[in-house]
Amino acid sequence: MANGGNRGRGYGPPLNDISESVGNTPLVKISSRTCPPGRTIYAKCEYFNPLGSVKDRLALAIIEGGEKDGSLRPGQTVVEATSGNTGIAVAMMCAQRGYPCVIVMAEPFSIERRKLMRMLGAKVVVTPKAGKGTGMIQKARELAEKNGWFLCHQFETDANWKFHYETTGPEIINDLKAGGINLDYWVTGYGTGGTFHGAGKYIKENSPNTKIILAEPGAANIVGSGIKTDRNPDGSPVSSHPAFAPHPIQGWTPDFIPLVLEKGLDLNLDEEMLEIPDGAAVAMSQALARNEGILTGISGGASMWAAVETAKNAPEGSVIVAMLADTGERYLSTPLFADIAADMNEEELEIARSTPSWIL
Ligand code: PMP
Repeated sequence: MANGGNRGRGYGPPLNDISESVGNTPLVKISSRTCPPGRTIYAKCEYFNPLGSVKDRLALAIIEGGEKDGSLRPGQTVVEATSGNTGIAVAMMCAQRGYPCVIVMAEPFSIERRKLMRMLGAKVVVTPKAGKGTGMIQKARELAEKNGWFLCHQFETDANWKFHYETTGPEIINDLKAGGINLDYWVTGYGTGGTFHGAGKYIKENSPNTKIILAEPGAANIVGSGIKTDRNPDGSPVSSHPAFAPHPIQGWTPDFIPLVLEKGLDLNLDEEMLEIPDGAAVAMSQALARNEGILTGISGGASMWAAVETAKNAPEGSVIVAMLADTGERYLSTPLFADIAADMNEEELEIARSTPSWIL
């Protein structure tokens, strides 16, 4: 990140291009309407990134990395398999730097994600729902090999976690330090595992007493879905692992264990696994919107739910940071907005009727 990121937060010279606004997202305190008494929760608001998600960091890291080591040639087509946020971020970077972009995306992910990628000039290839995450990755690989395109490899590349080690982790620790605050718990989920591995490694090295809570989807009645413990004797994950089943938290927990995550697990960064019961993630992101003015996606709700559970069981005075990976605007067509009517309700109509039209 050329200039320390997101300078919209402070004074500084104008940015040279949009990629310089990636990172340096704020930590925001959660009110007593959400946070249990005597504890403090901060949200790491990744939706402050230019295209609204933590994946803007990854796209910048991969494209700049490819440019530096020569694996990405001028004018070469960039291709990636993604649940959406990475695709939007990669499309932004390609638009800004003049690379053609092809995104491969599995069918169940929200339609607004596809539209956003196309708006940013990318071509979108949709793979069948039945093939899940594995199917879309296979398709991206085939396209890259056949056409000589640059494949981002978000699930495997070290550039992914390293960027979080260099930016996300230091931002959290330094912002808290600036406020004279110690971090007791850090809560995150995983998609590629880049955030967990990179920021987690930095946090463990620089704040060794911080406990890392890794959250996963999982119905409340399923016991022992921990990605680490549900293994065969040879270390491979058991195929019946409940988190591999379809779940509502877009961007979290694919149907395989990514290499970036596995390397983070090998470092023993995580202290505890927490399962998010069905429905809890959506309910919490709706509550964050209504009670905090914080508009985050379903995974942000899941992460905050895990943070609140952690806070309930933590000693008095504990400080917890929860990752909010993306903006709620990315979920207009999903259950997150299911009870929001497109038209005005009776109360809103009444306000409209009693208000001079020039105010409306
Ligand atoms: N939440 C959402 C909505 C995401 O798109 C992602 C990335 N797939 C994550 C969380 C997890 O981030 P990471 O890939 O760094 O594990």
